[in-house]
Amino acid sequence: MYQHQSIRLDYQEHIRLLCERYRINVGIINEPLDSFAHTRSRVIGVPIPNNALNYAIALHEIGHLVAPMFGSRIDCEIIAWNWAQDNALEWNKDMERIKQTGLNSYLKHIHDI
Ligand SMILES: [Zn+2]
Repeated sequence: MYQHQSIRLDYQEHIRLLCERYRINVGIINEPLDSFAHTRSRVIGVPIPNNALNYAIALHEIGHLVAPMFGSRIDCEIIAWNWAQDNALEWNKDMERIKQTGLNSYLKHIHDI
């Protein structure tokens, strides 16, 4: 966690910095439910992370690429969400809700084609 009590959070800047650090290319998409992470090409597709929900989704997709992955598909989803939460500037109720929604609907998502 970062020290952020007195500074204004900047979700977009944080995602930009993480993608720079981990050498991830970002494609901007419109529909949050269509978000994806392609491991081989190190590309994520996410909505512009200008609010808490889209920020959480972007962190989750980055997590798919940078967190050590093992186990089943649902294990990987949990690992990616946990990475997102651990690395977030903050984790609020909206973000927790999208995490739970994501875990509940993971079967609909295609992350690696
Ligand atoms: Zn996922």
